[in-house]
Amino acid sequence: MKDFSYSRATTADNAIQRLSTLDHAKFLGGGTNLVDLMRENIEQPAALVDITRIQSSGIEEVPGGGLSIAAGVKNSAAANHPLVRQRYPMLSQAILCGASGQIRNMATIGGNLMQRTRCYYFYDRAARCNKREPDTGCDAIDGFNRIHAILGASGQCIATHPSDMCVALAALDATVHVAGPRGKRAIPFEAFHLLPGATPHIETALEAGELITALELPPVPFAGRSLYRKIRDRASYAFALVSVAAALDLDGGHVRNVRLALGGVATKPWRAHKAETVLTRLEATAENFRLAADAELADARGYGYNNFKIELARRTITSVLLELAGQEVRQ
Ligand code: SF4
Repeated sequence: MKDFSYSRATTADNAIQRLSTLDHAKFLGGGTNLVDLMRENIEQPAALVDITRIQSSGIEEVPGGGLSIAAGVKNSAAANHPLVRQRYPMLSQAILCGASGQIRNMATIGGNLMQRTRCYYFYDRAARCNKREPDTGCDAIDGFNRIHAILGASGQCIATHPSDMCVALAALDATVHVAGPRGKRAIPFEAFHLLPGATPHIETALEAGELITALELPPVPFAGRSLYRKIRDRASYAFALVSVAAALDLDGGHVRNVRLALGGVATKPWRAHKAETVLTRLEATAENFRLAADAELADARGYGYNNFKIELARRTITSVLLELAGQEVRQ
């Protein structure tokens, strides 16, 4: 690991100001991804500004029925908060599907958004990787790509986004509040993570020196009945091969409203707008749920080892929607 300087900030303003005076500096939250990346020499910041002591408001109700979650709140605290469990069960379930209890006790909500991919080649400095070193190539495209993306990929990068929590946040239309040298702004969750395109090393809409300060969840009354399902190689401590976050609002057996997002299959937390559009006002049947899944996956592309994800995603979407509709799952 390369040597680095360390300092601790006590307020968001203090952290932003401090970062702006340092070269190659990064904010340090729970450190559950950044420190691993530094140990592997994938990230080599010259300075860390510790933001874990910044005073925050925790988890608060906002007018209109939503919730605000400060960026420094630990994943485990958010997952177990009564209002999160009651209003947004898919978010609580998604967080609890991620990592281990110890890691969730360290990891922060803001840091969860900043996780980097688990692509094997990204971590292997002997491999070609456009995300780690722009314009050097991508060894995953013709390599062992079992965990890679079938949606949102480019000729430059096919890495998946690793977060579970972010899949639920995409379905819920969360807002990311940030502050930086040029002031405060709010970023719609869907615009926060970027598709790889020709610049896979640029992963988020954050500008230089900006700090995530909070997440805001809007009121989604029917999300009280929602589900997160994660399909993975092991029962715990594994990243998703496919995951689905969904909320379903039925009116006499027909879909009045639906929220659907996918994880483990795309280069960013993937809001399934096409499936939502197909489903709205249709009867809540297995056939229609499959139609919606097919619409979302029409542009999916496998790269060899990950071809199985297309059918796995189709089945998982159908199965989650059937369960939310209170119907028997037969696939
Ligand atoms: Fe790098 Fe992306 Fe290719 Fe993985 S898929 S090797 S992260 S460029």
